[in-house]
Amino acid sequence: MRLNKGYVLREKGKPDPPPARAEKRTASRFYQLKSGHALTGVYLQSTDNRPDDQCWWYDPENDSGTHQTRDHLSKHCYKWRDQQAAMWARVKEVTKKGKQKWHVGDLLVDERYSPAVLGFVRNTHVGRAAPPVGTVRMKRSVGGCDKTYP
Ligand SMILES: [Zn+2]
Repeated sequence: MRLNKGYVLREKGKPDPPPARAEKRTASRFYQLKSGHALTGVYLQSTDNRPDDQCWWYDPENDSGTHQTRDHLSKHCYKWRDQQAAMWARVKEVTKKGKQKWHVGDLLVDERYSPAVLGFVRNTHVGRAAPPVGTVRMKRSVGGCDKTYP
């Protein structure tokens, strides 16, 4: 008879769950971001659900208004700067590469960084339903367009 000695390893300080085990709503936003189908300004404009692709969190005092891409949301959007800092700090811990060295698409396809990205998704509204068109402070008028969202 053999004893299974040494097989009982208890994990201390368990790591964050990978996307498959994260809560559903967070995981689905994560996968949408990964596939490029997240509800970003760029995606919604491309699917005719918004008249433009400007970031709806744009803050006239702190940024100039810009296309809402994944890159913008994960690196530049002023609204989520604290959450970005937290995510990139975790990535840098593992890779020694700061956010300037990354395309966010590369980050999303590598499971090693999923916990950091999931944390970001969980703590932001990135990829959630967009506010209705017209409730966003627009940098320029979108005159002549009567499309509403969705
Ligand atoms: Zn923004």
